[in-house]
Amino acid sequence: MLRRADQDGPYKHTLDTEKNRAIQLIRSTTEAGVDIFNFALFPEGEAMRTYNRTSGDACFTKFTSAEVWATGSAEAFLTEMVSQVHPDDQAEMVSYIQVHYQSCHNGIDPGAVPSFSSQRFRARKPQGDWGWHEVRSRIYRHENGLVITEGVMTELTEVMQLLLEDKLTTLPNRLASEQWLQGVLDREPAPDLAVINLDLDRFQSINDSFGQASGDAVIQQAAAILRQQLPAGAWLARLEADEFLVILHPNRQGSDNPSAAAASDLATEAEAAVRRFQETIQRGFAERLELPLRLTVSGGASLNPSGVTCARTLLQQANTALMEAKQRGQAGYCLYSEAFSQAIEWRLHLERDLDLAIERGGFQLAYQPQVDCHGDWIGAEVLLRWPQPDGRSIGPDVFIPIAEQTGQIRRLSQWVLDTACSQLDRWRQEGLQPPRLAINLSSVQLEPTAEEPSVGKLLLATCRRHSINPDQIELEITETAVLRNRTMALQQLEEVVAGGFRLGIDDFGTGYSSLQLLQTFPVQVVKVDKSFVQRLPDSTTDLQLVQGVLLIARQLGLKTVAEGVENEAQWQLLQTLGCDTYQGYFFDRPLTAQQMGDRLRAGLERRGLKELPPPLRPTAPATPQ
Ligand code: C2E
Ligand code: MG
Ligand code: MG
Repeated sequence: MLRRADQDGPYKHTLDTEKNRAIQLIRSTTEAGVDIFNFALFPEGEAMRTYNRTSGDACFTKFTSAEVWATGSAEAFLTEMVSQVHPDDQAEMVSYIQVHYQSCHNGIDPGAVPSFSSQRFRARKPQGDWGWHEVRSRIYRHENGLVITEGVMTELTEVMQLLLEDKLTTLPNRLASEQWLQGVLDREPAPDLAVINLDLDRFQSINDSFGQASGDAVIQQAAAILRQQLPAGAWLARLEADEFLVILHPNRQGSDNPSAAAASDLATEAEAAVRRFQETIQRGFAERLELPLRLTVSGGASLNPSGVTCARTLLQQANTALMEAKQRGQAGYCLYSEAFSQAIEWRLHLERDLDLAIERGGFQLAYQPQVDCHGDWIGAEVLLRWPQPDGRSIGPDVFIPIAEQTGQIRRLSQWVLDTACSQLDRWRQEGLQPPRLAINLSSVQLEPTAEEPSVGKLLLATCRRHSINPDQIELEITETAVLRNRTMALQQLEEVVAGGFRLGIDDFGTGYSSLQLLQTFPVQVVKVDKSFVQRLPDSTTDLQLVQGVLLIARQLGLKTVAEGVENEAQWQLLQTLGCDTYQGYFFDRPLTAQQMGDRLRAGLERRGLKELPPPLRPTAPATPQ
């Protein structure tokens, strides 16, 4: 509780409510729905009064004149007041008071009456818990020469508290943050600020897999860890779900001349702070929470030396930087740059177009043949294509990561599976013998949700719907996707294999994983990444790597596929090294369903690709790519 009016003290007076400016101020604020707590005022330079709304009385405090500021008694009052302010808000309160009152010492031009400035803060309520308060005040020199301070201290109502506070963590929320930040930015001069957005990576999967209570515990832990780590004077808030805000203002006096050097110092400081937060949160989670997954944090920052004076814009920029950081992977960090906004806009369009394409069937499948060492056709990889109306093409490498981040990948993958299965069924009904199809799985599909608890069951249900035997389908999952959450991936993939599907590890060698992965996971196929194959036969390092992978795979009884085979020399070498299956432009570019059907009809799958008449290799670009 802030200093209360000394109602029964020796200075009790009654105010002339009609004339007194402060009383009018109270009336107007009360009408605006704010609960007046008390106010301090130097009317006519006589004394500081406090007013208690409940009793309707006004009374003089111990201070007797405006000169108290010079003698220090007012500072004693303020020091006591600040000591009752919430620790997280104290530095801000001191800064507010300093900026506000330093003019008392410096001298003020008579007659100039500034507008009120305000500060929100938490202080102890009589019951002992923290309550939100707002002080609105201004200071000026009256024409008669006296320094006048007038203001209102309001205790915000419960409704206001609900509006400003996050219940789960008791941290200020987005609205409180925006108002606070705007207050700081409005100061003359505004201090240098770094606005930092922090967001837990893949938080949704915690809610989905372990329930809401675990999600809440994670949020509370994150808030507690951040509170401990917070530098003096920094603002901490929870913006929503798993998103936190930290505002640093290391240079509290503000920079008169916002130079590039100041911005660069601030940028270094912001990045260092984010790295510290990331490190402590990640370590804290590992120590305190018993969750079978590694939690990481991403961060984005924006700085106000860039000249931005609008709180909402700065917050938006920090969020844009965060989205950019997230796109680059987990535990990332980015400082806002203008270019991000354009990229984000492009992305938002792409997300919307993806939605439309999923709804309206705007995708196609391509099938890239896989051959054995005789060149005989033994399989085909199913590859997603997104033709654009203007003839451009957006590659899966571009839109799949976006669809994964937005969750659109689930519907997209289901479409791929349905289309591939129905195509298999159609070829079969035509009397053709289609080869086994390899379909790419996304890491997102390995994260169970309430609607999709098991990818294995989903795959089986789809196969049943199209009367397809699971052994007609091989599923490819990348090494990095598996490593993202080993425990969950293992559980999900065991179900997939138990359902009768063949499982392959795609892009093997790119994820820096140990070969132990091959022993732990129920895989039957290892696909050597095309980046290694493409540097063959010249690169000795790649040759050794490919040789090693093929050797170990063979020892573990796994089938091997080399992707990205582009020339005869590569094919020959890979055969010598004992690879089982080959895929690449040397044999075929991805084909349309129509081209595949034609091939099947012509019986090429039985005669083998080696019998194809030259000049098939290398092939001309075919559609779709
Ligand atoms: P991936 O699964 O490793 O697919 C192989 C990629 O290598 C394909 O690129 C294919 O067109 C390309 N490729 C094949 N032979 C050669 C060659 O000789 N030289 C070169 N330079 N490239 C070759 P694409 O179709 O652009 O697909 C890129 C990635 O997008 C795929 O990599 C896969 O991770 C993902 N993807 C494609 N379709 C799907 C899908 O339906 N679902 C999911 N989750 N991912 C998909
Ligand atoms: Mg693949
Ligand atoms: Mg691959």
